[in-house]
Amino acid sequence: MTIHNFSAGPAMLPAAVLKKAQAELLDWQGRGVSVMEVSHRSPEYVAMAEEAEQNLRDLMAIPDNYAVLFMHGGGRNHFSAVPQNIASADATVDYVTTGSWSQIAFDEAKKYVGKVNLAASAEDTAQGKAIPQFENWQLSEGAAYLHYCPNETVDGIALHEIPDSKAPLVADMSSVILAEPLDVSKFGVIYAGAQKNIGPSGFSVVIIRKDLLETRQNRVCTVMNYQVQDAERSMYNTPNTWAWYLSGEVFKWLKAEGGVAAMGERNHAKARLLYECIDNNPFYQNQVHPRNRSIMNVPFQLAKPELDATFLKEAAEEGLVALKGHRFVGGMRASMYNAMPYEGTQALVDFMTRFAQRNR
Ligand SMILES: *Cc1c(COP(=O)(O)O)cnc(C)c1O
Repeated sequence: MTIHNFSAGPAMLPAAVLKKAQAELLDWQGRGVSVMEVSHRSPEYVAMAEEAEQNLRDLMAIPDNYAVLFMHGGGRNHFSAVPQNIASADATVDYVTTGSWSQIAFDEAKKYVGKVNLAASAEDTAQGKAIPQFENWQLSEGAAYLHYCPNETVDGIALHEIPDSKAPLVADMSSVILAEPLDVSKFGVIYAGAQKNIGPSGFSVVIIRKDLLETRQNRVCTVMNYQVQDAERSMYNTPNTWAWYLSGEVFKWLKAEGGVAAMGERNHAKARLLYECIDNNPFYQNQVHPRNRSIMNVPFQLAKPELDATFLKEAAEEGLVALKGHRFVGGMRASMYNAMPYEGTQALVDFMTRFAQRNR
């Protein structure tokens, strides 16, 4: 039976990447050992690491005035690294809270920065949860940066337009990086934990405009110091060599699949298919305003929540796994990152249609 894994994260990886990693586990590049067992300073490893960076730069068309860092600590480490690296202790910074993750980032920033201004929050409307239009955001004069989360993984809320910010824009793209084409030049900092759309957990990517690299707070933990990590080519200390390798394999796979343009088309097609199923069937409901619906994470509720457990059990019997909603939200959630084939979403929609018919 084919398993379709809708896990929100750590999420499924392309089977082709896993097979290649498996084949190379006992013999990487003819050395008779795995990539995990060689020095990160060895020429072979450095060449692999540089190729991974170049492939990411190609995929996202990252301009030359941006540094790319491969760092420890997943996405959440940057909730504290960003304020310490980008803002002085007495600075004012702006945050937009649109769901669980940006709320945590907002709370974390208060430890490090004088004034953390809440510029806007997602709100309930007649058509579902929505992000206020940019004109209505309460931005601070002279803010060191504006932080937001373009795709809220738990809540399934997304901002599809890039805010037209005067302050450097900082985006937590953990669950949407590489999902579709993006104009990197509009951002000051993009960061992402790897385990949704890139590779293994505990690893992260930072894309930072070079003029923002000057560290603003000397007490920032050196391993999380963007300026130091840039100067050391992300090898101030031993990086997560396995995660870097596997991420590099995912970048190669993405290139071979047609890059982010092809991913964008496929991701939008998958999302369209699932939202159509939900909207056309009174048995299912999604509570996000159509303008802010995520293409990556689709939360939905059953009209009869008492059937949640049955839904999950019968879905799993058809190989459709990890559909349980986040413990904060309940209901169901289907996460459909780049590695999820269109057929996976099709299989889910077929199941949902039959399940609704049976239980009307
Ligand atoms: C998963 C996620 C995080 C947290 O990532 P960790 O690697 O667990 O720290 C942060 N932000 C967003 C948007 C996420 O989806």
